[in-house]
Amino acid sequence: MKPSMIVPSVVFMVLAASWSGGAQPGGPGAGRDAAPVAAPGPVETYTGRSVLRVETRTPAELMAVMALAEDVWTHTPRVGPLDVMVTPDRAGAVRAYAAARGLPVEVMIPDVASAVREERARIERSNLARGLGWYEDFKDLTQVYAKVDELVAAHPAMASQAVIGQGHEGRPIRVLRISAPDSPENPRAGRRQVIFTGTQHAREWVSPMTVMYIAETLLNAYGSDPDVRAAMDSIEFLIVPVVNPDGYTFSWTNQRMWRKNRRNNGNGSFGVDTNRNFPYQWGGEGASGNTGNDTYRGPSAGSEPETQAVMALANAAPRLDAHIDFHSYSQLILSPWGYTSSLPPDAALFDDLNARMASAILATWGQTYVGGPSYTTIYPASGVMPDWMYGARGALSWTIELRDTGQFGFILPADQILPCAQENFNAVMELAGFVQSPVSISFPGGIPSERPAGAPASFGVTVSAWNDTVASAALWYRRAGEAAFVSAPLESLGGTAYRATLPASSCGVVTEFYIEASGVSGRSGRAPAGAPGVFFASSAADRVVVFADACEGVNGWAVGAPGDAATTGLWSNDVPQATAAQPGNQVTPGGARCWITDGRAGAGVGTYDVDGGATTLTSPRFSALGPSGWINPRVTLAYWRWYSNDRGSNPNTNSMPVLISNDDGATWSPVELVAENAGRWVEKRWDLAGVGGGGVVPTDRMRLRFVARDLTGAIVEAAVDEVSVAVTGCPPNPADFNGDGFIDFFDLDAFIECFEGGACPEGKTADFNGDGFIDFFDLDAFVEAFENG
Ligand SMILES: [Zn+2]
Repeated sequence: MKPSMIVPSVVFMVLAASWSGGAQPGGPGAGRDAAPVAAPGPVETYTGRSVLRVETRTPAELMAVMALAEDVWTHTPRVGPLDVMVTPDRAGAVRAYAAARGLPVEVMIPDVASAVREERARIERSNLARGLGWYEDFKDLTQVYAKVDELVAAHPAMASQAVIGQGHEGRPIRVLRISAPDSPENPRAGRRQVIFTGTQHAREWVSPMTVMYIAETLLNAYGSDPDVRAAMDSIEFLIVPVVNPDGYTFSWTNQRMWRKNRRNNGNGSFGVDTNRNFPYQWGGEGASGNTGNDTYRGPSAGSEPETQAVMALANAAPRLDAHIDFHSYSQLILSPWGYTSSLPPDAALFDDLNARMASAILATWGQTYVGGPSYTTIYPASGVMPDWMYGARGALSWTIELRDTGQFGFILPADQILPCAQENFNAVMELAGFVQSPVSISFPGGIPSERPAGAPASFGVTVSAWNDTVASAALWYRRAGEAAFVSAPLESLGGTAYRATLPASSCGVVTEFYIEASGVSGRSGRAPAGAPGVFFASSAADRVVVFADACEGVNGWAVGAPGDAATTGLWSNDVPQATAAQPGNQVTPGGARCWITDGRAGAGVGTYDVDGGATTLTSPRFSALGPSGWINPRVTLAYWRWYSNDRGSNPNTNSMPVLISNDDGATWSPVELVAENAGRWVEKRWDLAGVGGGGVVPTDRMRLRFVARDLTGAIVEAAVDEVSVAVTGCPPNPADFNGDGFIDFFDLDAFIECFEGGACPEGKTADFNGDGFIDFFDLDAFVEAFENG
C-alpha cells in the first residue's frame, strides 16, 4: 500500500497551531522528558477522503483494492471485508472495480476530513471543560505522561516510573511499574511479572487510553477490590502506555492516520512499523521490505529504538509470565504465532485463555472479541512483538485489537473509550488470575461419578503448571455431609500423569472430592475451579448386567417388521467386509460378527447397501429389572453402532431410528435418531430414565429395535454390536428399618419401638442379628449398621 499523501492546507495549519499547546512536551515531568521535537511539517487534512468497506473474495481482488486505496485501514488485510481510505478519484476507481466484479461496497466514513475536524474540536471543548473525567476524551503524549506523573505521585509505595528508551526524534518511552507495596513477608522481588504495551501504532488512539485505565484501576482499586489486591500482591505490572511517542505525537500534530515510528528512511519516506521489527522470525511473511509501506519491517531485525526499549524491559524481567500489546481496531484477541500457521507449543492453553478473556469482555458490555492465533485469525505478520515475547522471551503473549469493528475505525467516538477500557481491564484481570494460578488440572478418562461399592476407585489426573514445576498434587475428599475434606497425595506416573484413588465406600455413599496442585513457585490450582466451595461427587453403587449380547450369533434377534420394504441390505448377523460405507471390523474383543445391513462388500459401495425401504432388527425380550428391593435403581442401555449415509447420491437424506419397548413390542419409545456419519464405531450409553422424553419405565418385557432405511435411493449402511443393559443401585440396607429408602433418625425410632415390643414395620423383626433372640446384641448390631449407613 502507498504511504499517505501529504496535502497541505493553510486553513488546517491555522487550526493545528491552536492545538500545539497540548501536543508538545510540557507540564509535570517536562524536565526529564525534554526532547527535540520534529519541525512542524505540513498537516494532513484528509480533504475529500472517505473510508469504504469492500467485500473481497479472492487474493487478486484484495490486492487490486489495496492497490487502488490511498491507505488501508484494516489492521491486517485478508480476503473478506477490507476497509480502505480513498481520495475522491480513487473512490470512483474502487467503486468501478467493485461494480465490475460484483463486490459489495459500504461507505463507512463518508468524509474523513470532517470526522477528523470534529474529533479535534470535541477534544478542544473537553479540554476546556473542567472536572471531566480523564477518559472522557483522547489525550496526547504530554497529557498521558502528566497522568503517569500523577499516578506515581499519588501512589508512591505502589507505582514508580522509568524511561526505557527514546524514539528517533528523542521523545522518551516511559514504563510504569505497579505492584503492591514491598514488604518483608511479600517481597516485591519475588513476584511474577506481566507487561502491557500500548501505542506501537500511532493512530490507534484508544490504545494508550486503555492501557492508562488499566494502570490507574490497578492502583485505585487495590484497597477496595479483593481480586485487584490479590493480583497486585503477587504480580508486578510493567506498563508502557506509549511505545511509539514520536509517531503518536505526529498523529496529533501532522497526520492523524500515521501508523509507524518516525525513522527518516533517507529516501523521502519516514517510519518503520516497529510491530514488524522484532528479531524473532524477522523478515518473513506479512512484513514489507519497502520503506514506504505501512508494514515496513525496518533495515534490520531489532533496528528500532522502540523495539530495543521493549526488548530491554522484557529481558530485565526475570519472572515474566505474560504480555499484551494493545492495538485498534477489530475486537480480536490474537495469540501466537503471527509468522506461521503452525500452532505454538501452548496452543491449547492459548485457546483456553483466549476464551476466558473473550468471555470476561463479553460479560462487561456485551462486546464480542474473537480469539485465535494471529496468522489464521487475521493474516500473516512476522517480526511482531508477541511472537518475540513468546518465541524468544518465553512469555505468554497477545495482541488485543480494541474497539470497534470498523464503524468508526481509528476515529472512535470518545464515549467508547471508557467502556472499551473497562472491558479490557476485565480481560486483564482474567489473565492475572491465570498468572496467580497457572496450574492446569484435567481428567483424561473423565470423573468417576459412579463407582463400584466396596472397592477403591482410581482415575487418571493430568497436572501441569505453566512456567513452573508441579511440586505437590493431592486428592481432597469427604463423605457427603461431613464438614472437613481430608487429603491423599496423587500417585505420580511420570511427566504430567498422576493417579488419584477414592477409598472404598459402602453402597449408596456419595464421596465429594477435588484435586489441588501447587508449583514450586507456591502458586496452586484446583479442579473444579472454586473448590472447596464446589466439588465433584462420586456415588458408590452395585452394578448387575441384566442383558448382554456380543452379537456373535442370532441369539433370538429377529429381522423384519410390518412395513419393511428393503430389497437389499437386510440386517444379518455377519462377519463384516469393509466398503467405503461399512466397517471391516466389529467391536467384541476376540469376536468376529456383528449385526449389519448385509455384511458383504460386493462389487461396489452400492451393491449390498440398504435399498428400497426399511429393514428392522429387533432384540429378543429381556428384563431391565435389577434385584428386588434395590434402592435407587438406575438402568443403563449401551450399544455400539455404525452408520453411514454420506456416500454416493442423495447423501444425508436418511436416518436410523433406535427404539425401545417395555411392553414386548406393543408400543415403542425413541432412543435416538441416528444421522451421524462418524466413519467409525460409536459407543452410546443411555439412562433409561432420560430416554424418549419422559423416560421409559423398566419392566421384564423390554425389546430394542434398530430401523435402517433408504427412502431416497442413497447409500445407507448400518451395524450394531455389543448390546447390554445394566442396573446400578444398592441392595436394601438393613439399617433402613422403616424401608423408606433413607437411613435416618426415623429408622432408629422404628427399631427401638419394635425392639421394645411395639409395632414393627412389615416383614421386620427386632431380632436384627438373626440369632433367634431379641436382646442387647440386636440393638448393638442395629446401631452398628445404622452408623455404617
Ligand atoms: Zn496496530
